[in-house]
Amino acid sequence: MAFNSTRVIVVGGGAAGFFAAIACAETNPAARVVLYEATAHPLAKVRVSGGGRCNVTHACPEPRDLVKRYPRGGRELLGPFNRFGPRDTIAWFAARGVELKTEADGRMFPITDDSGTIVDCLRRAADQAGVKVFTAMGVRRVQRADGGFQVEFTDGSAGDFDRVLIATGGNKSSVGQIIAANLGHTIEPPVPSLFTFHIDDARIRGLEGLSVPAAGTAVRGTKLKDSGGLLVTHWGMSGPAILKLSAWGARELAERDYKFTLVVSWAEGRTVAQALDTLVSARMANLKKQIGTWNPFALPSRLWERLVAAAGIVPETVWTSVSNASLQALAGQVAAAEFAVEGKSLNKDEFVTCGGVRLREVDFKTMESRLCPGLHFAGEVLDIDGITGGFNFQAAWTTGWLAGRAMAGAE
Ligand SMILES: Cc1cc2nc3c(=O)[nH]c(=O)nc-3n(C[C@H](O)[C@H](O)[C@H](O)COP(=O)(O)OP(=O)(O)OC[C@H]3O[C@@H](n4cnc5c(N)ncnc54)[C@H](O)[C@@H]3O)c2cc1C
Repeated sequence: MAFNSTRVIVVGGGAAGFFAAIACAETNPAARVVLYEATAHPLAKVRVSGGGRCNVTHACPEPRDLVKRYPRGGRELLGPFNRFGPRDTIAWFAARGVELKTEADGRMFPITDDSGTIVDCLRRAADQAGVKVFTAMGVRRVQRADGGFQVEFTDGSAGDFDRVLIATGGNKSSVGQIIAANLGHTIEPPVPSLFTFHIDDARIRGLEGLSVPAAGTAVRGTKLKDSGGLLVTHWGMSGPAILKLSAWGARELAERDYKFTLVVSWAEGRTVAQALDTLVSARMANLKKQIGTWNPFALPSRLWERLVAAAGIVPETVWTSVSNASLQALAGQVAAAEFAVEGKSLNKDEFVTCGGVRLREVDFKTMESRLCPGLHFAGEVLDIDGITGGFNFQAAWTTGWLAGRAMAGAE
């Protein structure tokens, strides 16, 4: 295939911007690819990601399963994941000397357990492909000009380009979104996703660090429901069962100003009636034990003591003496405990933005704007976000790769 010397500018030096710039320059060596990063530190989020280990992707090779992990963007990402999915990510990094490993829950990290390995790999690949990277220089404005674009930089200088990729991430006051809006795009209002819940409640006060491996969570009065590990924190609750709920409910919970009733089943999968059956059987089997010292759900003992107290039962009561009404109250505490959520905190290990460039205005074969030919988008600037586990980077790699190849003229 003969390529021309297209002038390509990538705005934003994050995961999506680097991946796109590399894909573009590798596909079309004649293209002149420049990448501008506003800060002095490109790939800063990659570096801090996954607690400094970078959860690169998730071992979920089947696109139909993968798209279910995206509260926003799943439908649109099905085609793109068929072209560049987690398997391709693994192969891409392996071809550049970086091996990934899979943890028990499916999350994939570099075998070095160091995000610096990923940062170095991306920088080296960009360099080898001939991408010119400019740091501490942002893009202020992009305007249509002579069939291409005129781009204005933060130092007042300007340049002309044939193709522009906006990969400025999901920040609330993102210049990328302003540029997109000025070129005719609709911006879905940004709100946070992947956050933890503020709860001040006697049942969990002082229990920070305690976790339950399989809890069920739901928001009273909505269809929001999830499950997984639940962690008690200093401020309330976190863990996959909370973070996933926050992602699927990002908009609904923002509308409620993060004040709502959370319903927790500490023993996932059990209804109140089933929990009661288990308690009644335990009462028959544990004639002389005190209720506060033994529980049939394998819950952490400190949590169990709190649930027993919340059900109005004196912990020293022997199992045989506990009334049916008390067991009923305890079943409620085990399988449908209500907590008043009063606010949220960002999850320090991973957070993303729900909202961004409206997806139906973008062609997901090329990541090109349907409104402004030559303008492309990749990564979190789009109204795409995944649950925690490596899905957000996968979306950045996939959309970046598609945009890069399209800008190179390969599509
Ligand atoms: C603490 C933390 C940990 C995370 N850990 C993980 C994880 O382990 N796995 C996972 O899948 N996801 C993780 N995420 C989410 C993931 O980091 C993002 O989804 C991903 O970085 C998005 O990539 P991006 O390239 O679209 O945006 P970004 O990484 O945000 O990059 C955008 C870049 O554009 C630059 N920029 C903005 N405006 C301009 C401008 N006008 N001109 C020039 N440059 C500009 C910004 O400075 C930034 O460097 C984490 C997020 C956080 C906050």
